[in-house]
Amino acid sequence: MLNAPSQSFPTPGSQQRVASGGRSKVPLKQGRSLMDWIRLTKSGKDLTGLKGRLIEVTEEELRKHNRKDDCWICIRGLVYNVSPYMEYHPGGEEELMRAAGSDGTDLFDQVHRWVNYESMLKECLVGRMAVKPVVPRDCREEKKILNGLVSRSQAADAPATEGPRPPSYDWFQTDSSVTIAIYTKQKDISLDSIIIDNQDDSFRAETIIQDYSYLIHIRLSHEVQEDVSARIVENVGKIEIVLKKKENTSWKCLGHPLENHNSFIPRKDVGLHYRECQLISKEDVTHDTKLFCLKLPPSSHLQTPVGQHVYLKLTVTGAEIVKPYTPVSDSLFSEFKEPVLPNKQYMYFLIKIYPAGLFTPELDHLQIGDFVPISSPEGNFKISKFQELEDLFLLAAGTGLTPMVTILNFALTRVRSLRKVKLMFFNKTEDDIIWRSQLEKLAFKDKRFDVEFVLSAPTSEWTGKQGHISPALLSEFLKRNLDESKVFICICGPTPFTEQGVRLLHDLNFSKDEIHSFTA
Ligand code: FAD
Ligand code: NAP
Repeated sequence: MLNAPSQSFPTPGSQQRVASGGRSKVPLKQGRSLMDWIRLTKSGKDLTGLKGRLIEVTEEELRKHNRKDDCWICIRGLVYNVSPYMEYHPGGEEELMRAAGSDGTDLFDQVHRWVNYESMLKECLVGRMAVKPVVPRDCREEKKILNGLVSRSQAADAPATEGPRPPSYDWFQTDSSVTIAIYTKQKDISLDSIIIDNQDDSFRAETIIQDYSYLIHIRLSHEVQEDVSARIVENVGKIEIVLKKKENTSWKCLGHPLENHNSFIPRKDVGLHYRECQLISKEDVTHDTKLFCLKLPPSSHLQTPVGQHVYLKLTVTGAEIVKPYTPVSDSLFSEFKEPVLPNKQYMYFLIKIYPAGLFTPELDHLQIGDFVPISSPEGNFKISKFQELEDLFLLAAGTGLTPMVTILNFALTRVRSLRKVKLMFFNKTEDDIIWRSQLEKLAFKDKRFDVEFVLSAPTSEWTGKQGHISPALLSEFLKRNLDESKVFICICGPTPFTEQGVRLLHDLNFSKDEIHSFTA
């Protein structure tokens, strides 16, 4: 049983509750928390009214179930009777009713596409929609698509008029290797734009181009060795993925297409892909925050872009729970070491363990060697904002430091125009300050960087700044290097902290374009 009080759980600031796009959250009644829902789904009660049967649902049938007490919703082709879930939904009944009797995939994706509704609502599953996608099965048929350059017209679901041009791909082989070349038609492509996974008979290479995703998804025709590598051919926007053959035979075709192969679709319409990562180490950083190191499978390539996050998935009392976390480097100095060659197979996370939280105690109980599924990265932070940047101000509270770690590394090592980076770091007590000595050391070593700590509950010995984010603290902190210097401000912490900070920044006449707030 979980050590989670059930009354007002999750708390208003909890990520189980916090939603994107300024969506309003509805207070849940007593006994209607996520934990209560999990208990109900485990109770054996017939939640669909179909006594365990699964049916094929036609659109006509779906439309009939559009009342609160008889509400069916289709999400990614599966139909759920959500009436029993109504009172447990953090977004409220009204939000669910907007999708009553229809396809709610877009609505659910807009709000929290990372929440695994398949797991949360599995006891409410009525069945599948009657229409099924068609996938070619015959290798001869696939050869037309796979063995050679794919013309633009063949790229499935290519955006018609707006958005970037759809990529294409080609492949070639030597005795010992197979190279897949992706022609992105974008000059500024980098290695964090490509995510590769070769597991369980499925090879996936997802190329992120602006807000679109180009997917190569195939069952390879022959076996390959575990490690894959990717490289960028500069200036021509070509990505090359090199696979090492297990046997030196000649391949007649690359493989068989799987779901969404060769599609180019908006990222928001693509389900998140997870791979199993192994817990390598877990170190105390403060009394409640730990540095977790996880290893990607050797057959994966994944680099999280600066300021983005991934999702970690765990099963808590039988339900799949997913929470976002922001990868960091192993220390504030790893990007500065010579040569700059961090091992890309490891991911590091600074995670605060909340004893009464749903997810973090479970994460903390994992043993070294255990596996955790980690998603592909997401986030809307854009490093293009750093072009010609001179003054960078970072406002972080608690674990809100995490996106600032890669931002700080990137700014100090890659932004030539940069004159000053200042971090104001809000915590309760001195003991809560993550990586305090590293931050101080960095400020000592690099004169472009300054750090100020502000404590909301200091001991009487504390001589530094005290209190919460305020106009007085901000106006003193946000002094530009030069009157006209190009400035950018990042802010991250508990949602009310961030919201208040953004309001204060607007009051101080900083424009929307000059601020990035990290929210759920
Ligand atoms: P929750 O169950 O969500 O609980 C959160 C708080 O509420 C805790 O204080 C808990 O004690 C309290 N609480 C729970 N139940 C009750 C109750 N009934 N009554 C009163 N209080 C209660 N966090 C990190 O540590 N590192 C990161 O890198 C990081 N990156 C993030 C990136 C993004 C984009 C976002 C949105 C969040 C990020 N977070 C990060 C936060 C993280 O996703 C989780 O929200 C956090 O780990 C808490 O999860 P939990 O399930 O353990 O706690
Ligand atoms: P915490 O220790 O509870 O708080 C850190 C500091 O913020 C404390 O000084 C605290 O003051 C202050 N604070 C809290 N609420 C405030 C408010 N309403 N107004 C002004 N100051 C406030 O923080 P934490 O537990 O580490 O939580 C970090 C938060 O950051 C989590 O909510 C997490 O989800 C979020 N986060 C988001 C991202 C992202 O990318 N979106 C990434 C990482 C973390 P008090 O002493 O008064 O509480």
